[in-house]
Amino acid sequence: PGPKTAEYLQGSFDNESMARGGGKFPFVFSEGKGATVKDPDGNVLIDITAGVAVNSVGRCHPRVVAAMTAQMNSLMHASDISNVRRTELAKKVAGIMPAGLKDNCISYFTQGGSGAVETAIKFVRKITGRNQIIAFHGAYHGVWCGCNSLTTGDQYRKGYGPFIPGVIHLPYPYCYRCCFGLEYPSCKMRCAQYVDYVLNTPYTGADDVGAVIIEAQQGEGGYVPPPPEYLPMVKKACEKHGALYISDEVQAGAGRTGKMWCIEHSGVEPDMITWGKGMGGDMPMAGLTIRKDLAALIDDHSQPNTFAGNAVTSVACMTNIDILTENDRALIKRAAVLGEEIKDRIREGAKNTRIIGDVRGNGLMIGIEMVEDKESRVPLGRDDVGKIIMGMLARGMIMVPCGRFGNVFRFMPPLVITREHAMKACDILLETAAEI
Ligand code: PMP
Repeated sequence: PGPKTAEYLQGSFDNESMARGGGKFPFVFSEGKGATVKDPDGNVLIDITAGVAVNSVGRCHPRVVAAMTAQMNSLMHASDISNVRRTELAKKVAGIMPAGLKDNCISYFTQGGSGAVETAIKFVRKITGRNQIIAFHGAYHGVWCGCNSLTTGDQYRKGYGPFIPGVIHLPYPYCYRCCFGLEYPSCKMRCAQYVDYVLNTPYTGADDVGAVIIEAQQGEGGYVPPPPEYLPMVKKACEKHGALYISDEVQAGAGRTGKMWCIEHSGVEPDMITWGKGMGGDMPMAGLTIRKDLAALIDDHSQPNTFAGNAVTSVACMTNIDILTENDRALIKRAAVLGEEIKDRIREGAKNTRIIGDVRGNGLMIGIEMVEDKESRVPLGRDDVGKIIMGMLARGMIMVPCGRFGNVFRFMPPLVITREHAMKACDILLETAAEI
């Protein structure tokens, strides 16, 4: 960091809680445009994080800024009743939902993903009259009291319990580190069979499951895509038990994986979707969208939220949706193509290193798992991971890791990133990793 950045950092450390996600990460945002950001000293960096999968259409998109500016002159806050913009947004969201929900759903608006998941938990209880929920190892669904119970990860849980009762965690299909010690496809999807076993066998204790909540590609848990058969098998197991299927698309949605919704890669029709991040883009806008017949079972006035459906954030969200879906979803389709190019480039470079163990993911939701060596697959230690991140920062690129061991680099740039910047970012990653 330069002198101005260092001063801001100190001011931040002295006055803000470091419980925040970024902790003491040594960067200060001053400006952001498209897929680049500037710090207070004027350094321009490639933004490979998109504010953690948020800025899908790029930072400060001129059309979003113009639409918000116009809206600011007429109405912003309207508390939790109808306003013209939130109603328009609810209709627009209904039109872009995947099969099963499209034009047959009701939306509930929040300001972030945690609020959406929190609401889903309450709604599931009311709709089904059941109080168990199945979530998965490596899952991240937010850190409020309810949703934190679904989230895994020692840093979020240890010392913060007790959590809500009735949560059952099962293995996510993490093929690179299969907890059953099996290999795809000879495994015959043991992990999916296990979900069915837990849900549909007497004496497993899962007798009252109202819903299964799952990320169609795991985010914080390490950018892990499941094998193609997995989600359809889970859906079948849910149907047998009479449990609802919730797709948490907060991180993987809004076009990031090369489809509007990540679940669309599987053909599964969810009963509910939680969404956020890329939908609001630069603005805090998230929500829960649920099937109409299920929504009819929720009592009026049972879940108030003062800032829900703010007219300005609604406009930002609608403009984002327009940009993502116009020209036959060209930007989303480009994410799929560019993502393949990035994976190819990293895989090619990985041949010359010992420490890039796995390159995976859909669209621009790419995980690069770093290891001590490819044979042992021992996760690369935190010191080395930290050195690479700082090396990338010094070379002009922001990277935020994820994964159970904090050893997965994630390529989640704005979908508008230029090909040139994307390839440059691959080279920076490979060069820096080669120094370890
Ligand atoms: N669900 C998923 C899948 C997420 O990735 C996140 C955030 N990383 C959340 C929920 C919580 O969202 P927020 O931080 O906006 O509350």
